[in-house]
Amino acid sequence: MGIPAPSRDSAVSRVPTAVRDAALGPIRDKVLAGQRLSFADGVALYRTHDLLGLARLANHAREARHGDAAYFVWNTHINHTNVCAATCDFCAFAARKDEPRAYTMALDDIFATVAALPEQVREVHIVGGLHPDLPWSYFTDMMRGIKRVRPHVHIKAFTAVEIYFFHKLYRMTVERVLAELREAGLDSMPGGGAEIFAKATRDKIIRGKADGPQWLDVMRTISCSSAPCRTRRAGSSPSSPSPSSPGRRRPCACRRRPASRTSRPSRWRG
Ligand code: SF4
Repeated sequence: MGIPAPSRDSAVSRVPTAVRDAALGPIRDKVLAGQRLSFADGVALYRTHDLLGLARLANHAREARHGDAAYFVWNTHINHTNVCAATCDFCAFAARKDEPRAYTMALDDIFATVAALPEQVREVHIVGGLHPDLPWSYFTDMMRGIKRVRPHVHIKAFTAVEIYFFHKLYRMTVERVLAELREAGLDSMPGGGAEIFAKATRDKIIRGKADGPQWLDVMRTISCSSAPCRTRRAGSSPSSPSPSSPGRRRPCACRRRPASRTSRPSRWRG
């Protein structure tokens, strides 16, 4: 028996769209009318503390498009090593390399794991500890080998914390780390490692891994190296003239930032 087509009208009419934040009122009207939101609307949604109101509007927009249908990716997780040079007080996964429970997967084991996955698995999600002794080729060979055994699988791998660690450990710019991983098969990155960016708190619970600005720099780098740049302000374009200098091309917002701290590799001391 097939899955019945979702009924958009019935799904939408069930869901209340009440908001408590007055700033969301005009946005709610637009959402209900199916109108496109502006950049200012996006900022208001970002700033609101009315999370339930925000969720109701988001749910309305979702159900208006897809009814009751839900879509998800069937993926698998591979944690290639738990050896980690950092210390995060909340982490029960990491181990020092001389601990009995420390492990690092051989590449052949990773490839065998991927090869044995059901055909329906569309994504391999890979994150691990910050291992101080693995060669750089371990990671590029990992990407290539996975694509060899499962060419169409999407590889989502390595948090910004890991990318920053690679940049320090292997003395390469973040741009080069990302370029080599992408060339080897990396398709996207997960968002882990962003637990708490407030320095006073992060310094208390985390030692030896990227801080908030470093994490954000990595994310800006990968966004800017994609085309089109996803961190660009909505409505602008690198090829659109600057309002302040008609006729001059306007670089995307992230390229106008001061030089990244991640552009000067030095030996990792975490
Ligand atoms: S960097 Fe990751 S693996 Fe290492 S201690 Fe922190 S949370 Fe655990």
